[in-house]
Amino acid sequence: KRTLLEVKDLETTFFTEDGAIPAVDHISFHINRGEILAIVGESGCGKSVTSLSIMGLVPSPPGKITSGQILLDGQDLTTLPEKQMRKVRGRDVAMIFQEPMTSLNPLYTIGYQLVEAIRIHKKDWKKKQAKLRAIEMMRHVGLPRAEELMNNYPHQLSGGMRQRVMIAMALLCNPKLLIADEPTTALDVTIQAQILKLVKELNEQLNTAVLLITHDLGVVAETCERVIVMYAGQIVEEAPVLEIFKNPQHPYTLGLIQSVPDMRFKKTSLYSIPGNVPKPGSINVGCRFATRCEYATDRCTSENPPLYEVESSQLHRSRCFLQESGGIKNVQRVTESQ
Ligand code: SF4
Ligand code: MG
Repeated sequence: KRTLLEVKDLETTFFTEDGAIPAVDHISFHINRGEILAIVGESGCGKSVTSLSIMGLVPSPPGKITSGQILLDGQDLTTLPEKQMRKVRGRDVAMIFQEPMTSLNPLYTIGYQLVEAIRIHKKDWKKKQAKLRAIEMMRHVGLPRAEELMNNYPHQLSGGMRQRVMIAMALLCNPKLLIADEPTTALDVTIQAQILKLVKELNEQLNTAVLLITHDLGVVAETCERVIVMYAGQIVEEAPVLEIFKNPQHPYTLGLIQSVPDMRFKKTSLYSIPGNVPKPGSINVGCRFATRCEYATDRCTSENPPLYEVESSQLHRSRCFLQESGGIKNVQRVTESQ
């Protein structure tokens, strides 16, 4: 079977003083074995809550998975007791975050932390064996002088090196899925490109599937096979990566693509989508993008668009009424035609 992870109708709710907020609002998607899938969206769209839900790390309270399933190799992670889930984390699914400094303990050496991370899952391994594995993984992620680095503390490393250490740590037990949540956002552009290249290489060499969470559509262009775009807790578009750049169908995706800097033209001022993401739960009727959409009609504020299959292409879905009239290219922007 090709499918590794299947998320079915997932809803993750935060119970706050302002009421129940569905941060992830009934989303469904899958990741194939060895594939790189990106989830793209602005902050607050639900992409990080999606990854925390898969990891069983939704802060609770106030958060809770309130419906749906997360099937990893057919096993539903949402029903696993925490003790079992702890075994899944690191062994089957591992995660790296934006700022490695928050996940590395400043008080312990890199080597100590890598060795301990192995021994959580390989209880019968001797320290020496774990140490050799740690050094092997550090070399694998392109860290020079791995033996020496084992004795260093996190603050002695650059941001890029720390992120490599985190990737090494995540991959120590050969997980089937690596979740990378904004792994390069805190790094400068050159280092960003190196880290993304590394993630892609490791994906190819180790066949680890990757779920890449990012706000930057530019980041996914060269890294991923498929893309999911999220907006206000929902999936608004899903397509293979080439398709989404060639033939974006949702007005929000189009806006994201127009905000990606184009190096060829050295554009200084970028298009940015006016307005803000509505808070999940604040819009109950109509399309959640309607307040920012240049194509919105009256219908958009009174009816919820379903996720349509895009007719002209395969594996392509878009949550926009424009699909009923042949897609975005056949329709003029309301603001243009007025
Ligand atoms: Fe815009 Fe309407 Fe499509 Fe929503 S359904 S994205 S408001 S055109
Ligand atoms: Mg986030």
